[in-house]
Order: sequence, then C-alpha cells, then structure tokens
Amino acid sequence: MPVFDKIVIANRGEIALRIQRACEAMGIKTVAVHSTTDRNLKHVAMADESVCIGPAPSIDSYLNVPAIIAAAEVTDAVAVHPGYGFLAENADFAERLEESGFVFIGPRSETIRLMGDKVCAIRAMQEAGVPCVPGSDGPLDDDAERSMAIAQRIGYPIIIKASGGGGGRGMRVVNTEAHLINAITLTRQEAGSTFGNPEVYMEKYLQNPRHIEIQVLADTHGNAIHLGERDCSLQRRHQKVLEESPAPGISAEQREEIGAVCVAACKRIDYRGAGTFEFLYDEGRFYFIEMNTRIQVEHPVTELVTGVDLVIEQIRIAAGEPLRYTQADIQIKGHAIECRINAEDAETFMPSPGVVEYFHAPGGPGIRVDTHIYDNYRIPPNYDSMIGKLISYGADREEAIARLKVALDEMVLEGINTNVALHKWVLRDVGFKRGGFNIHYLEKRLTERAEADQ
Ligand code: ADP
Repeated sequence: MPVFDKIVIANRGEIALRIQRACEAMGIKTVAVHSTTDRNLKHVAMADESVCIGPAPSIDSYLNVPAIIAAAEVTDAVAVHPGYGFLAENADFAERLEESGFVFIGPRSETIRLMGDKVCAIRAMQEAGVPCVPGSDGPLDDDAERSMAIAQRIGYPIIIKASGGGGGRGMRVVNTEAHLINAITLTRQEAGSTFGNPEVYMEKYLQNPRHIEIQVLADTHGNAIHLGERDCSLQRRHQKVLEESPAPGISAEQREEIGAVCVAACKRIDYRGAGTFEFLYDEGRFYFIEMNTRIQVEHPVTELVTGVDLVIEQIRIAAGEPLRYTQADIQIKGHAIECRINAEDAETFMPSPGVVEYFHAPGGPGIRVDTHIYDNYRIPPNYDSMIGKLISYGADREEAIARLKVALDEMVLEGINTNVALHKWVLRDVGFKRGGFNIHYLEKRLTERAEADQ
C-alpha cells in the first residue's frame, strides 16, 4: 500500500516533475495543478489527473490558495506537495490545507510561521544553541540613538535585513554611522512594500564568508538526522548559481559538530519534514542566517552523496512514517556538483524566455539532469528563468568537475539563451578548481572578466 493514495503537486517546472517521479516510484497517484500557459508541462502529461487553476500570472494560479484547495477537493486527493517557491513557505496555506482535511507535505504551519519571521527564527535558534551572527537580537525600533548604539556595539560594517525578507532581497550593507539611519528607513520602506512587513533587524556584515547549509530530516516520532552540508557560495546578487556537497575543506569533525547542533535544534522546535539550516561560514565558524522549511533547488547534490531520496522521505514523513535512517546510516561518499541552468542572456543575465527548438540532454556515469524542457517546449515569460539542473557525481571533486565539463559540452540547447557558457567558464576557473571561495568570488571574477574585455 502506498503511504498516500493521491497527492496534488502544487508547483510547476522541474520540481513538479521531480515530485511526479517520486510519487510514481512510490505508487502514489498525482494531480498536476497548472496555469493556462502550463498545459504542456512534462509532469502534467505524466500525472494521473490535471486541473487548470487559473491564468498565467502566479498570483492567479500557483499562488491561488482557494483554487488549489478546490482542485484537491474535486480530485479526492489526500495530500499536497508544495515544492519550493510559490506557497512552499506560506504558513497560511499550510494551515488552510490542514483545516480542510489535507496533509501539507512540510512542517507544521507554526514552524513555517516561526521561520518565516527571521527575527523570531534567530531568537528560537539562539535558544536552541545554534550559533548566530552577532546582531540586534530583535527588531529595530524608530529610536535612532538606540540603533546607532547597537551598530556601535556590533561594529561596522553591518547589514540591515528585512524580518520577512527572502530571495536575496530586502538587505542593505552600511559601512559608516553617517549612512545608518537612512539605510534603516529605506530598508523598512522596501520591506513594507515588498514583503508586507516593515520590520527590520541588524547583523554584523561578515565580509568574506562562505555560504554553507545543513540538510536535515525529522519525523513525527521524535527522530531527526542531518545529511551533511552543501556549499552554495557561488552566487550572483545573493542568488545561488552552482552548489556542491561536501563543502571543500570542511572536516568530518566540523560536519558532525554543526550537524549535531542542527539535529538538536530540530528536536527542540519539534521540526517535521525536510529542512535546511543556512549558515555563513567565516574563519572556521558557522553563523546561522535562516532556516528553509522546504525542499531546496540544490537538494540533488545531497541525494547523490548520501544515497537518500529526499523527496520520497519528505512524503513518507508527512504520512507519519518513522525515518528509515539513523545518523550512523548517513555516510557522505564522493562529491556532487549542481549547475542551475537558466534561460537568460549569458552577458546581461536578463531572462530569455522563448521556444526550446532543440534539446539534447547529456548522460553517462554520474550525470543527472533534472529538467522539464523538451524539443519545441515554449518557456513562458511569467515564471523563474531556471529551466533545469545539471548535476554530476564523482568519487572526488576532481572527478565530479571532469564529468560536469563533459556533460556541459555534450548538452545542446537551441532557440534560447542560457547560462551554460557561464558554467563552462566557472569550471575552468583556477579559483573554482581550488574550492573554498567566498560568496563574492563569482561577482569579483565577472568584474575582472568584464574589465579584461574592455
Ligand atoms: P534570503 O532569505 O533573502 O535568501 P539570507 O538571510 O539567506 O536572505 O541571505 C542571503 C544572502 O545574503 C547570503 O547567502 C549572503 O550572501 C548574504 N548575507 C546575509 N546576511 C549576511 C551577513 N550578516 N553578512 C554577510 N552577508 C550576508
């Protein structure tokens, strides 16, 4: 007997296909809910049933809570998988689903609400013994003197961040006291209009950190494990471009130490499902910045080095099954790297939607392609520009890089602009080969390249 009879996949693109595949492997029936422009998505064709939930704009379809709940009702589904983005971290959605008698495949709505408010999340993590970035330990008020005193105590540079922020937006770095109050005012305004929550807080701005995150799984029986780390330092505008696991230079002892801290925190907050603790890593120390209460884009690198199917585990946990793994079962073996393939201009990074005239996926040992695109598929302009992920696995980092290079060369993607050339360039970069670079590395190298071209 499958753990659920039927699941609604409340997402689109590659992650919807990833969930479809997991469900099929588990014998679970699926309902694909899609917008009018997304009738031709691959997972829609593969799903047992499909329901159109609204027009192209996300606000009318993938964010349309009543339409998604209605689709679950008319199809007699029992659970909803939200994927990432859209409603994945919307506590109200999780709550509405559970009130309507459906299982939300993710943490409890209270947990999502707690982690969605970064000030509350940091406070909860501090109480759970997780190391955090030195900061205001709470929201900033309108008292300029008080804010200046906090910044003095932390020491410049500092960063002002929106409590309800996400997606790399709602942050402002301040180098000197002269700019502090203005920066707080601007970030507050932006946070209010973008996230509907004007609350901001302050953190020490770590100048050259790496972004290292820990994957966890926790069930409803009090068991929790970590599945090692991912290095997501290769970023542009705070957006991840390439991720890998394990993180170069992180020792097994460091992994166990920070992993154990995350597992203890999961138990303390009674966490449920898959989750990620995001840290900045600076001078040998981890500093928590936020927790993501969902499956992440970069989850495949963890799957390849641990052999655990995270989406299947998420679904089993949501069905109330106990974890099938103990911490001792999780052995990190080999190395995996993921390139996010975006439909965008290689130079300007502007989205480049359109028709994929021809697509040839690479293959061979250690190559995994997670994508929903196919020949003549039209990428709509309404959604994120990521059209898939190319992931490689090797016995070590060198082999993973070598295989990834071959795969990038082998892949053919015609009709649209993509960032494939950027990935090829990154893989040949000396600093990348060395590994262990910080979050500014890619932008620094891009600037150097632009200057050299002039
Ligand atoms: P979001 O929810 O928008 O992704 P995060 O808090 O996860 O926001 O931060 C996103 C990115 O911003 C980080 O990966 C890092 O590059 C940068 N960042 C955030 N906080 C700090 C900090 N205190 N010091 C330096 N960089 C930071």
